[in-house]
Order: sequence, then C-alpha cells, then structure tokens
Amino acid sequence: MSDNLSAGTIIVYGTSWCSDCKRAKQFFGEHRIQYVWVDIEHDSDAMAYVEEVNKGLRSVPTIVFPDGSILVEPSNAQLAEKFGLQTRAQRTFYDVIIVGAGPAGLTAAVYAGREGLETLVIEKGALGGQAGSAQMMENFPGFDEGISGDEFARRLGIQARRFGAEILQATEVKSLRRDGRYICVTVSDGTEYTAQAVLIASGARYRRLNVPGEDKLIGSRVHFCAVCDGAFYKGKEVLVIGGGNSGFQEGLFLTRFARKVTIVEFEPQVKASRILQKKVAEKGEMMQVITNHAVKEFRQRDSQLEAVIVEDRATGALEEWHPDGVFVFIGLSPNSAFLPPEVERDRFGFVTTGPGFMTTLPGVFAAGDVRQASTKQAAVAVGEGAAAALMIREYLAAQSS
Ligand SMILES: Cc1cc2nc3c(=O)[nH]c(=O)nc-3n(C[C@H](O)[C@H](O)[C@H](O)COP(=O)(O)OP(=O)(O)OC[C@H]3O[C@@H](n4cnc5c(N)ncnc54)[C@H](O)[C@@H]3O)c2cc1C
Repeated sequence: MSDNLSAGTIIVYGTSWCSDCKRAKQFFGEHRIQYVWVDIEHDSDAMAYVEEVNKGLRSVPTIVFPDGSILVEPSNAQLAEKFGLQTRAQRTFYDVIIVGAGPAGLTAAVYAGREGLETLVIEKGALGGQAGSAQMMENFPGFDEGISGDEFARRLGIQARRFGAEILQATEVKSLRRDGRYICVTVSDGTEYTAQAVLIASGARYRRLNVPGEDKLIGSRVHFCAVCDGAFYKGKEVLVIGGGNSGFQEGLFLTRFARKVTIVEFEPQVKASRILQKKVAEKGEMMQVITNHAVKEFRQRDSQLEAVIVEDRATGALEEWHPDGVFVFIGLSPNSAFLPPEVERDRFGFVTTGPGFMTTLPGVFAAGDVRQASTKQAAVAVGEGAAAALMIREYLAAQSS
C-alpha cells in the first residue's frame, strides 16, 4: 500500500457482474491498496448488511473503510479524495510535465526539480509504476539485500517532492498536442496543462491473452498482479500463464498463498532464467511447469470460472483444467495509446526516440519501458529518466537562447 494511503482493512461488498465493482477493484489494484472482497451473492449475511446500509437496496459496490465510513458506488474521484490523493495541480503551466510516476518518471522529476525546473508529474495509479508492485527487487544497485517495490516507490516519491516536483495521482493523461512552442496535455477530469517540454515515462503493462471469457473474468478470477490478488488464493490452486522470468517470479511468490501453482508455457521451452527454473524445481510438488500448451478459453458459468480450455500443441487435443484462479504474465504492452500520430511508435506501440531521448514530436521526450529498445529493468529506467531530464534541460536552454 502506498505511503499516503491509510492502513487497515477495507471491505468491498459487490457482485461478480457489477462493472462499478470491477472499476473500484481496479482503482484499489492500481493504487496497490489492499482490500477484502465479499461477493454478496455468495454470502447471505453480507447481502443483508448491504441492504441494511442502503435502506433496502442492494447497491454495489458498498465499500466500508477502517474508520467505519462507507462509500456506495463511488466514482474514482471520490475514491481519490477519500485517500487524500492530489488530483489538481497548483498551476496550469510548467517547465516540464512528466507522464508517469514509475522509476523513469520519478527519477526524471528528481533531476528536473534539482535543476530548478518547475516540474509536474501526472500519474494515473500508484507511485513506483511496475517496480512499485515488485515483491522484492534484488538487482537494484546499492541495495545489497534487495528492496521491496513499495519501499522503493515510497523513497522515490519523497525524493522527487523534496526537490520541488508536484505529483498528481489518480489522474490519467488522455491526450497530448503541440501548440506553437508549447506542449499541452489533457487529463481525465478535462483539465489542460501546458509545458515547454514533456517526458513520456508511461511505461508498460502486462499483455492480455485475448481469448474468450478473459475480459469478463478480469479482476474476479483472472489477474495480472500477484502482489495485489495472490492473497485471495490461500490454500487454492492457481494457474500462471507464461514461462518467462515474470511468470516464474510471480509463480514463486504465489506459493506463499496457493496450495499448488501450475505454470503453463505456449512454447516447447520456458524462457525463464536458470536460477528461477531451479527455484521452481526446489518447490517440488507445489509447483508444476507444463510447456507447449496454449490457453484457448476461460469458460464461465454464472459469471464464475468453470474451466480453462487448453490445447496440447503437440497433439492438438483440448483439455479442461479447473484452477481456482489464473494469473497472466505473457509480456508487456506499452502505455502509449494516448499519444498523437506525430509521436512515432514501432509496430508494438513502443515510442521511438532519436538522439537525446527526443521523440519525433519536438519538445516531447520518452524514457523507460515505454521507449523502443529499452531493456525493461528498473535500474535502466532510472538511468534513462535521469539522462532524459538532463537532455530536457539542454533543450530548454537552447529554446530560450
Ligand atoms: C511484478 C514486477 C516485478 C519486477 N521486478 C523487477 C526487478 O526485480 N528488477 C528490475 O530491474 N525490474 C523489475 N521489474 C521491471 C521494472 O519494474 C520496470 O522495468 C520499470 O518499472 C519500468 O519503469 P518505467 O518508469 O519506465 O515504467 P513503469 O514502471 O511502467 O511506470 C509507468 C507509470 O506510468 C503510469 N501511466 C501510464 N500511462 C499513463 C497515463 N496515460 N497517464 C498517467 N500515468 C500513466 C503508470 O500507471 C505507471 O505508474 C518488475 C516489473 C514487475 C511488473
């Protein structure tokens, strides 16, 4: 949970079919806020409680906070307010706007702030980006015993603010355009902010399988974040899709909760590092790895996961598997859809940059996982964020001379 969010148990009463419940769960997931989920259709006491609170209505989600306060069907803005997140900037014009508060964006904010540039960071979720959701980063230089993603994110946020950067949260950049020598960005509440330069540090997110049933089950039985949702599977069996480093790392993490973790890989061989393969093998019967199998469908009954339909690619035979939940780790998609066509991207959507991290739109720079050819590592994202901030300083100096 982020530092600025109050600790304690939040209870979300809802149903599996309610879209506002999914949105609220997504808000909590994106902000790494832990909560307890209660499906009122499977708990008559919970149903009675929701009816009592809502004067006979079954309004969901009904969210009960540790201080006893209750929000019914809240908007994301109401949830942000509840957690004291800053969603409006103090001004509308800045020297530099940074999109994304992951390692690249926050490091750029530290450097830009220290250079005396008026800096606004706009983040749609929690600080720290993907790194913030890492259980433990063991390869980040300077932390000989590793550092948890949460702690890393907390420290980076404090450091960026110490140098004067303003950071908005629960605020998504929806579009960006160049207007004369300035760059304007429009955010989710419709406000437009303007800057002399913009750094795209919007990172990437886990790719979906795009098979039938996936969309409807996301957040209830299909997940993309083991840290956020693993605890729902205490003593249960889970399927991890993807035999790369992420799949193996997250699968190992899930053994803290799950009775059994099965990793399934599409290719005949897994791509995870040898060290991770060894760690998984050491788990014995608790973990199983199945290769050369393709997930074809998540079959549902009454909005619940009934079976995962999997094809044995060697024989073409279809199999029915019955895990309690599924975690998907099959690679990354860049968060670049909000960018205009003038910002060139490769066929996967990663932003291309020239010398000095500048994109094809003058005044717009890119760093970190969203950038084509970046190596998708926290230490590299940090390095790119620092370098991009220094390039922006030079760009601004050249503009004003
Ligand atoms: C579970 C997990 C474990 C990992 N473990 C390690 C590890 O041990 N070691 C290591 O080196 N790397 C690790 N990584 C990879 C590392 O976290 C990433 O390489 C790094 O976070 C990339 O940083 P970034 O700032 O470029 O992007 P991100 O971390 O992706 O941050 C981008 C931020 O931009 C925000 N954003 C996106 N679009 C918008 C928008 N339109 N408006 C506003 N905000 C937006 C996102 O919400 C996000 O917070 C791990 C990743 C994951 C997911």
